[in-house]
Amino acid sequence: MDNQNIGELKQNLNSLKAHRHDFIKDETYEVCKICGKKRLFLEEVAEGLQRGLREDGKTYSVRENRMAYFMPDIWEKMYNALGSKKAKLTALMLLQTGARINEARNIRKIDIDFQRNTIRLVVTKTKAK
Ligand SMILES: [Zn+2]
Repeated sequence: MDNQNIGELKQNLNSLKAHRHDFIKDETYEVCKICGKKRLFLEEVAEGLQRGLREDGKTYSVRENRMAYFMPDIWEKMYNALGSKKAKLTALMLLQTGARINEARNIRKIDIDFQRNTIRLVVTKTKAK
């Protein structure tokens, strides 16, 4: 390898080390012209909500404001939009107990202590493997 090639290699290496990614759109992704870094192309689908399509065909959503609160007016709107009585009861259960959906799903009548006003969660979150 001659000195000119080594010089070019060093230059290429330096441009890879410190550069601003220059993304160009490639189907549902954006790819950096310099280093090849790939990121999901996100499109604004609603106010404060972006969505992209992953390689496996699943959609990936990103909320702009992750610190949003469930205000009473939004809760009421959501609650009234629920169709069945079961869905309404489930929503109330989740809100009032703070249980996860899978924890609430596995609550049986014997898990509820009406004297102490407690609910025993038998099935709880399990660590992902
Ligand atoms: Zn790059």
